[in-house]
Amino acid sequence: MRLQTELLIDGEWRPSRGGSRIEVTNPYDSSVICDIAEARGQDVDDAVAAAAQAFPKWRALPAMARGGLLLKLAAMIEEHADELAALESLDTGHPIRDARHLDVPRTAAVFRYFGGMADKFEGRVIPAYPGFLSYVDNEPIGVVGQIVPWNFPLMFTSWKMAPALAAGNCVVLKPSELTPLSTLRIGELMMEAGFPRGVVNIVPGFGQEAGQRIAEHPGVGKVAFTGSTATGRRIVEASSGNLKKIQLELGGKGPNIIFKDANLQDAVNGSAWAIFHNQGQACIAGSRIIVHEDIADAFIARFTELAASIRLGDPSDPDTEMGPVTSRPHQERVLQYCAYAVEDGGEILTGGRAPDGDLAKGFFVEPTVVRAAPDDRVCQDEVFGPFVSVTTFRTDEEALEIANNTIYGLGSGLWTEDLRRAHRFAREIHAGMVWINCYKVVHPGSPFGGVGESGYGREMGFDVMREYTHTKSVWVNYGADIEPYYVR
Ligand code: NAD
Repeated sequence: MRLQTELLIDGEWRPSRGGSRIEVTNPYDSSVICDIAEARGQDVDDAVAAAAQAFPKWRALPAMARGGLLLKLAAMIEEHADELAALESLDTGHPIRDARHLDVPRTAAVFRYFGGMADKFEGRVIPAYPGFLSYVDNEPIGVVGQIVPWNFPLMFTSWKMAPALAAGNCVVLKPSELTPLSTLRIGELMMEAGFPRGVVNIVPGFGQEAGQRIAEHPGVGKVAFTGSTATGRRIVEASSGNLKKIQLELGGKGPNIIFKDANLQDAVNGSAWAIFHNQGQACIAGSRIIVHEDIADAFIARFTELAASIRLGDPSDPDTEMGPVTSRPHQERVLQYCAYAVEDGGEILTGGRAPDGDLAKGFFVEPTVVRAAPDDRVCQDEVFGPFVSVTTFRTDEEALEIANNTIYGLGSGLWTEDLRRAHRFAREIHAGMVWINCYKVVHPGSPFGGVGESGYGREMGFDVMREYTHTKSVWVNYGADIEPYYVR
């Protein structure tokens, strides 16, 4: 596999100005895949300058032409699906079956959706006063900075770039230093598709330097960030210099409530998907199971049996259901929470360790289920691994109280056959997204984002197009009298 390892700035692949490189590791066996150019502050400055220069022409293109390029890219991603899936799996540890059947098609779908959106995001006419045309236009912001994490690098490249470009902005995107490879490959496909130089710039580097520079850069009009709540706070501070528009998709601690009347097998299977897909490295993961006392034993028995049967292994093996987590420090952090669970008085029901044998060379953690109390660290902190807590409740009020006992408010789920209860909870849960008798269903048209310390702003659909534009009100007098005050 030939890999692109340089920075994409102004339509060219360039080395780092500082000459520094970052090693990229395969989480399956800790081997070094390659090294990539590290974007330094000056590289970010170059990228912002290139984007600013490209902006007037990009903005002036007919929206359908911008959309056409995104549609072309979507088709190219599908043509290169096997290669992109293999690359994503190698770099992140995603099982190849997920990379091929989820990450890649979802990435293509988002570029396609926003390719179609480009000329359908319309303005408005306000029925204001006779003789006036009052209309509202949506203007691109200019240069937008985008910073993404390591858990879904390919997908997040599309979530960030597609709407921003459709709306007429130019982008400077920083992938995570841990997983830059698929984003760089998308950059190559974009150049091949014919995106004009400077419209898209990709600058992998460390957060403290490249990320920080994007957040504070006076030439960047908006920063869109996906990552941890702690980093989100830093971005807000760094962006205050020119009062950038900000969009934050941060952490989560998704409650997943299983009521007494739930279809038990659906709840077991759906809850496993909610937490274990992508090794639990999902902001929307259903990481807190809250189950009714009367069915808790039956649920836990089936759920722990399923968790223990998940096939860990080489991500490139199509039979593998769970790969490693993305880095050694992250593996150590998840295992630390297994220790906290016990220290705080909880019980490990299955998992709780790194597997031995062949898998010990990678960053694996066994699927872990712990019984815990709502205030324990494992029920409060985002663990971001294949790790789920189980808590029981007796009344609906108690279930809601436990569900909302968190600083976060991103994904949430509930399993019940009772329609009234389902809608009541959907209204009262403190979250940006609620899944009823399902979990983690996403679509490019459905708003995605959080409340509380999970951030603000929304990805997807018309909502994200508003995030990437300024609203401009225009008044045209075509037949009204001029205000009489100063008419002589
Ligand atoms: P992180 O916050 O450590 O890093 C995210 C990105 O920010 C990386 O590119 C990193 O290099 C950069 N960064 C780090 N410090 C920075 C700084 N000071 N200034 C600017 N940029 C900086 O997060 P992570 O560990 O890569 O990802 C996991 C986190 O992402 C979890 O908390 C998860 O919940 C969250 N996440 C949220 C969503 C969502 O949509 N809400 C989706 C996926 C992941």
